[in-house]
Amino acid sequence: MSTPTPSPRPFIVPVFIPHAGCPHRCIFCNQHATTGQMASMPSLIDLRKHIDEFLAHRRDPNRYTEISFYGGTFLGLAKEQIQLLLATAAAYVRKGLVDGIRFSTRPDTIDAGRLDLIASYPVTTIELGVQSIQDDVLAHSARGHTAEDTRRAVTLLADRPYQLGLQMMIGLPGDTAAGALSTGRQLAGLSPDFVRIYPTVVFKGSPLARWYLEGRYEPLSLEAAVALCAELYLIFARHEIPVIRMGLQAGPELDTDRDLMAGPFHPAFGELVRSAIWQDAISRHLEKEGLGGGEVLIEVHSRLLSQIKGQHDDNIIALLNRHDLRAMEVRAKDAVPDDTVLVNGVVCRRW
Ligand code: SF4
Repeated sequence: MSTPTPSPRPFIVPVFIPHAGCPHRCIFCNQHATTGQMASMPSLIDLRKHIDEFLAHRRDPNRYTEISFYGGTFLGLAKEQIQLLLATAAAYVRKGLVDGIRFSTRPDTIDAGRLDLIASYPVTTIELGVQSIQDDVLAHSARGHTAEDTRRAVTLLADRPYQLGLQMMIGLPGDTAAGALSTGRQLAGLSPDFVRIYPTVVFKGSPLARWYLEGRYEPLSLEAAVALCAELYLIFARHEIPVIRMGLQAGPELDTDRDLMAGPFHPAFGELVRSAIWQDAISRHLEKEGLGGGEVLIEVHSRLLSQIKGQHDDNIIALLNRHDLRAMEVRAKDAVPDDTVLVNGVVCRRW
């Protein structure tokens, strides 16, 4: 296998370690629901079996592949457990079956000693669950770490050869839209290689579920979460930082009927955000070009057709109404680059 180049879209072999290594339970968290798994730690035999089965489903054996430990606090595990898991995964890298290892961990578990502990293993990517960069919001969620822990962790990681991902949440107890945007701007200033944005939802069995039932917590509406994520996405886009995920992933691991009590969950949340960004961009373009009251033809790469139209043609309806248009047609034209649309033949960009 030639020297691998980390890919923004790797094939991931997910290994869930729900709540393993966590010093306590954060208020919004129920990893047993998020990961669909009750046991915190797999046995090494089960771990190898799981990895083998997952790799058997990889269609392209040359696709950049990482074994990923998540759902807990990887560097919060005992030293021996960290070494056992990494050694098991590293054997796959040595055999050329996998390119690297990634894990997620809390910012307050990053220190020189633990980074030295993992230095000899083929770890390629580390994701930090930052959630917020405001101490009062972190305290409300019982995170047990501060914004300073995040800054210190990022500084320590800057000298190490890892891809760095930062995860943030919106709609946390005590947070506001302005607070989340401030978190987004500060995270962008830390120059991670990628970010994930998760709207807070109320998981059954989480401490937040009790707050919700007692009327102490109200989640964001889906509309508000989409609008806020769109603003955050643009902050990261302007810093050329990829947002690799927005919203939780539905699937066998997350059964929304079984696991969710309330909150802005949507199976295509990221698509809703990207669609809202286009609606805003096209709306500003119509305003700037003085096209209100007229007829509008939008030409777009076929990959973007559904994003431009919006779910159930929501974008078309909103733009027709807002600009009093006589007609609006969205047509596929694959010669148009996919960060652009043509509005009556004139280029309109997303931002
Ligand atoms: S949010 Fe992360 S640190 Fe907090 S309990 Fe869940 S897995 Fe553990």
